[in-house]
Amino acid sequence: MFTHSFALLISLLAIIISSKKAPLNKTFGYYRAEVLAAFINGLTIILSIAWIIYEAVERFLNPNIIDIKTAMIVAIIGLIINIITGFILMKGDKNNVNLKSAFIHMLSDALSSVAIIIGYVIIYYTSWYFIDIILAVIVSIVIAKWAIDILRSSINTLMETSPLDITEVKEFIERNKNIIEIHDVHIWEITQDMYNMTAHVKIDKNHLDNYEELLHHLNHDLKEKYKIVHTTFQFEW
Ligand SMILES: [Zn+2]
Ligand SMILES: [Zn+2]
Ligand SMILES: [Zn+2]
Repeated sequence: MFTHSFALLISLLAIIISSKKAPLNKTFGYYRAEVLAAFINGLTIILSIAWIIYEAVERFLNPNIIDIKTAMIVAIIGLIINIITGFILMKGDKNNVNLKSAFIHMLSDALSSVAIIIGYVIIYYTSWYFIDIILAVIVSIVIAKWAIDILRSSINTLMETSPLDITEVKEFIERNKNIIEIHDVHIWEITQDMYNMTAHVKIDKNHLDNYEELLHHLNHDLKEKYKIVHTTFQFEW
């Protein structure tokens, strides 16, 4: 429950910060706050896996301590809270990595609650105490997969990995007959759907008078086709 509110708080803070107007020296704005939040939420989900396993082992080692009926009620209340928050989060933008990380957190909590409830029911009727550990391992594998997805996409953005296929964009630009080739290409994502690009563009010397029109077309085409909203090109000949 503690990590539950923590994940929501981190995501909410990130939404507030990223919508703030950034001071002059923060030239890329505060947009990355949401990517950082997703990264932190991804990490805490991974940490919660250790907790899930620890709790299952603890229940297995001290089976007499648990009062199954009370534990069931706690698990069911937890599940209901998770489902409600999950539904609220589902209304948000599905491509937003920050909201997605909070949603995955809720989903992970819900899944472990379901596993605990199923475990209790099985233990209640069969006294198979080991079932708890088996379920915890299955849940952990599923949750780890979700968390790794979140971590991978947030790390890619933080490491300035190109969200587009560099070779494809290069070939697309070089299809223009006035452009000989482009090099030193950088494409990065500031935050979701906000792509930037810089490159050196070698142009045909004989068509230098077309320079302005060429630049205009280049920017227009890249925005239309690849959603690259900001470019800086250095022309060479
Ligand atoms: Zn460069
Ligand atoms: Zn160059
Ligand atoms: Zn500019």
